[in-house]
Amino acid sequence: MTSVVTVSLSRPIRVHELRPGDIFAFPDAPHTALTVLDTREIAVSSELTLVHLTLTGCEPISLPRTTQVTPLRMVRNVALKCLLCGKPTETELNLPRDGEPISVVCDDHDPTGTAVPAA
Ligand SMILES: [Zn+2]
Repeated sequence: MTSVVTVSLSRPIRVHELRPGDIFAFPDAPHTALTVLDTREIAVSSELTLVHLTLTGCEPISLPRTTQVTPLRMVRNVALKCLLCGKPTETELNLPRDGEPISVVCDDHDPTGTAVPAA
């Protein structure tokens, strides 16, 4: 079992980090879960880029790419090198639930000490 050490996702997530399949809410409406079907970036000018989001259950919306959102589900395949032997490993994490990865110990080693098993 690969062991991944993570920290909880405390940094703000910006709308341009969303990918299809992610679920998020706006800070002002934390209980309205929105599922992303598609995202597209539109450069309006050199200083303004909008993210055009296609969502389930409502009209598409466009937001400045730095708009902060509250992630509810962001599943990512995270590639990290094993802390002990350097072997590349890939782990699937749901960032809001599992946190962001700091380091990983691959399944060639017995997880010990501070290693926290992946959920
Ligand atoms: Zn290893």
